[in-house]
Amino acid sequence: MTVSPGSFKLHFTEKAKAPLFSHSIDIFQLNLGNRCNLACRHCHVSAGPGGKNIMPPAILNKCLEILKKIKIGTIDITGGSPEMHPQFKGFIQECAPLNRRLIVRSNLAILTEPGFRDFPEFYAKHKVEIVSSLPSFDEQKTDRQRGFGVFQKIIQSMKTLNQIGYGMPNSSLQLHLVHNPTGAYLPASQKSLQNEYAQLLKNKYNILFNNLFCITNMPIGRYLDYLKQSDNYEEYMESLVCAFNPSALDNIMCKNTISIGWDGTLYDCDFNQMLHLPIDHGAPDNIMNFDYEKLKKRQIVVDNHCFGCTAGAGSSCQGEVAG
Ligand code: SF4
Ligand code: SF4
Repeated sequence: MTVSPGSFKLHFTEKAKAPLFSHSIDIFQLNLGNRCNLACRHCHVSAGPGGKNIMPPAILNKCLEILKKIKIGTIDITGGSPEMHPQFKGFIQECAPLNRRLIVRSNLAILTEPGFRDFPEFYAKHKVEIVSSLPSFDEQKTDRQRGFGVFQKIIQSMKTLNQIGYGMPNSSLQLHLVHNPTGAYLPASQKSLQNEYAQLLKNKYNILFNNLFCITNMPIGRYLDYLKQSDNYEEYMESLVCAFNPSALDNIMCKNTISIGWDGTLYDCDFNQMLHLPIDHGAPDNIMNFDYEKLKKRQIVVDNHCFGCTAGAGSSCQGEVAG
């Protein structure tokens, strides 16, 4: 089967008989840039130590101004490695008093590096919810995807976070993990994988966490390169298209999220950001022209990669989406 341009639109039009629209902005997701201490194989933002795209202070300040004015429930900060952004700590200090759900997507390995070891206490102080990718509880599989030695660094950071209350019963400090398949296939059931991760991490390393989010690998960025190099692209796209699940459409993240690129460009989601597909159809596409009313009910820009969000149980930054 060949996935032709516009296939997703065709599927959606067939199933929902309308274009895709957002219904709210509940999640304000900032991508601080592509500088990262790691260079993972599945990285859809193609980040690495040489990443030069860093969100300028003027854009960060504009984001803050909007967040102070409009009560958007969740602030979700991603990268790259957010900790490597020069103004990151100051931004968190400004966001914390706003009493929103404050999420940082950290690779955790960075918390073991010199200059970054005070972050666990800093996060706890500001009640930051931590989400981190752990593709597999198998050391070799994780290292194959994220780099040699990364698994043990993540384990070390999780132990430190557990010690200060993260992921512990009766603690408000939340630590979530993200699973994504280590090959060209769809993730297994989130519930069964969460139980497996929990048991194994507890028994082998005495580590606790709150939730596991299963995320489908999107056919973009470095993962797309891997699919093409390994001659898996056609087959992977076919598996996504065949697993198309219309019930996942109700909760795909672009319906209630806005994604802000490092340079202030606005996107329907992080994936569109990586594909340079800004918000379109008449809604503002830059943070400097942010217009809440126009943006909350905008038409979403879709393309073939959207099959990644609607396959099987569906996929978003918070894991499965289909009920
Ligand atoms: S997946 Fe995350 S940790 Fe890995 S290179 Fe990309 S941004 Fe960095
Ligand atoms: S890739 Fe983005 S725009 Fe497409 S369905 Fe997923 S969240 Fe929506």
